[in-house]
Amino acid sequence: MDNLASSSSCELALKTGFEKKIFVNRSLTLENIKCYGFDMDYTLVAYKSPDYESMGFELLRDRMVSVGYPHEILRYTYDPSFPTRGLVVDTKYGNLLKVDSNGNVLVCTHGFRFLRGEDIQNYYPNKFIQRDDTERFYILNTLFNLSETYIYACLVDFFTRCNRYTNLLKGFQHGDLFMSYRSMFQDVRDAMDFIHDSGILKEQTIKNLEKYVVRDPNIPVLLTRMKKVAKVFLATNSDYNYTEAIMRYLFESNVKPGTPKLPWRSYFDLVVVDTRKPLFFGDGTVLRQVDTNTGKLRIGTYTGDLQHGTVYSGGSSDTVCDLLGVKGKDILYVGDHIFGDILKSKKRQGWKTFLVVPELTKELQVWEEKQNLFEELKRLDVFLAELYKMDMSYGQMGSLLRSGSTQTLFASQLIRYADLYSSSCINLLHYPFNYLFMAPPVLVSQLLHSCTRKTLLKSLFKKKKRKNGKMIGEITLLYKTHCFLCWILVVMATNCYKTCCNWNKNKKIHG
Ligand code: IMP
Ligand code: MG
Repeated sequence: MDNLASSSSCELALKTGFEKKIFVNRSLTLENIKCYGFDMDYTLVAYKSPDYESMGFELLRDRMVSVGYPHEILRYTYDPSFPTRGLVVDTKYGNLLKVDSNGNVLVCTHGFRFLRGEDIQNYYPNKFIQRDDTERFYILNTLFNLSETYIYACLVDFFTRCNRYTNLLKGFQHGDLFMSYRSMFQDVRDAMDFIHDSGILKEQTIKNLEKYVVRDPNIPVLLTRMKKVAKVFLATNSDYNYTEAIMRYLFESNVKPGTPKLPWRSYFDLVVVDTRKPLFFGDGTVLRQVDTNTGKLRIGTYTGDLQHGTVYSGGSSDTVCDLLGVKGKDILYVGDHIFGDILKSKKRQGWKTFLVVPELTKELQVWEEKQNLFEELKRLDVFLAELYKMDMSYGQMGSLLRSGSTQTLFASQLIRYADLYSSSCINLLHYPFNYLFMAPPVLVSQLLHSCTRKTLLKSLFKKKKRKNGKMIGEITLLYKTHCFLCWILVVMATNCYKTCCNWNKNKKIHG
């Protein structure tokens, strides 16, 4: 019944011991889920932090030097306490911004310098940005973006301090050469694409799996249990060879004693690589079969039925539904990318969504340790200095979910698009597969306006008839809340009607 992104639910979660907890934005019955879908990177595969991001940063940094950036930047090393996911790059002025859902600036840095009050207003007079201006603002949404965020701060820091370069509002001048913050960010983006697309990041990872990949023996256990009650598929943007190496490591080299060692593909009903999410949730691409001996793609579009043990490349979310014979509403898709995995699957296909937020482990730990300080924030704004210390415990940019008591853009998207969220998908192991996740009752939106309202009530009535022990209490309470809200609506409508009648009467009297 919890929702960490709102403070009251955090208190509730605290009492229950919550590192393994799944938080709920919208009620969902696992019993109704006929199919579980998984993303791979940062979802089924947890990368070891900060070693993995550090390695990504070094590859990026070296690439920047090889395309012509000064050798001095090789002196920078990755500091995991600086970047937070969800920061916005202002490519016009070279700043990194943490903003709330409306675009109000919460934190602003230029290089590693944290700007305050007037300095921020010089750039953003209303302390506000037009987030829709996607030409100018770029959101660093994924965990892969952390190293990218950090290298950009390093570059701005370096050029600002280096006396060979003249600081201008929109970049740096060096002789007759002008380097804009915008072109610098484009260079970072290109370097990022290079380390992914050329395969060097993947090569380094495969060379040292122990160092970079968490091998949790509970993953095969979770999937074995899931497969007994539902269909299971994998949809990853990674290519076949990388998927094969990683999944082998996770499933085949790591079985719990007494459990049979099975080929990794047998844990899934369908495996799709090269999915190109978010495109996958719309038009998609050509569906091809992968030759699992060579890793090469077979020519032509695959049009046949699902073949067990076959790996497919490309396709779309519609193909997944057709091949598996399931409807979008029956799928719970588990992913880590708020845009590519969660927002698109929910908005375009109506899938149920589960967001993996590895940072939650730290967020929850800090929350627990500094709970008293947060209490202060709720009562007294004057202790801002102390609270600032609390924010700093998350890292230099503060929490992923909030700044003081204000929710970040990331938190608002998480609430809107993820039905469930947790620090790891493995936490599903702690709930039975007929579990009813109940969202906390809220006065606005979820109960009255949610498109899933009818389904929810239908499932509640079904459960009620079964007289299912403890569940019935919660269901009755929710049902009562629903009735109470309907009653409020009726009272409001009646009052409105009365006011209109009076108004009409007065109009007649006064002409
Ligand atoms: P998934 O999370 O399993 O869908 O896979 C993510 C894939 O996207 C991995 O193969 C990454 O290498 C790739 N990827 C992540 N970020 C970038 C990027 O900025 N440019 C190119 N590829 C990326
Ligand atoms: Mg991923």
